[in-house]
Amino acid sequence: MADTDEQTGPGSHAGPGAPGGRSRPYARDVALLGRSTPQRSEILEALAARPDFASAQALHHAMQTAGTQTGLSTVYRVLAALTKAGRTEVVRDSKGERLYRYRPDADHAHYLLCRRCGRSLPLDAGPVEAWAELIARSYGFAEVQHTVELTGTCTTCTAAESAAG
Ligand SMILES: [Zn+2]
Ligand SMILES: [Zn+2]
Repeated sequence: MADTDEQTGPGSHAGPGAPGGRSRPYARDVALLGRSTPQRSEILEALAARPDFASAQALHHAMQTAGTQTGLSTVYRVLAALTKAGRTEVVRDSKGERLYRYRPDADHAHYLLCRRCGRSLPLDAGPVEAWAELIARSYGFAEVQHTVELTGTCTTCTAAESAAG
């Protein structure tokens, strides 16, 4: 099942009549990856269910707890594809490992991430977006992407640390 040969071309065609209760919540995002597979839906749903950034391993661990058969390498692969399709925010933790968070629409967001506990706060990145757009325009570049990572120690972790010290 779910084994159509239909190639999903670039660019999204928002087909009419989509808001049926029958379709899966992230079907449109899975379609960005090309062929829809149960694994892709599962990984996407697991990612979207998480409120904060998670590593591929943490995500896979949570899926295993829920009884998945999907392997870690598939999780890595699908996360990479989702990132390429613009459906994740990616930051790196202190060890350089990639952490992922679901991006619900084409507009990306920026976060302030705590390196200790992994808590993430969405930011108003208007000035960054405006600056990136200005640079792209003035150099005549198209499809300019940017990565902005803000990491630190959150108030809770700072308080815990000073209490312990
Ligand atoms: Zn923290
Ligand atoms: Zn941005």
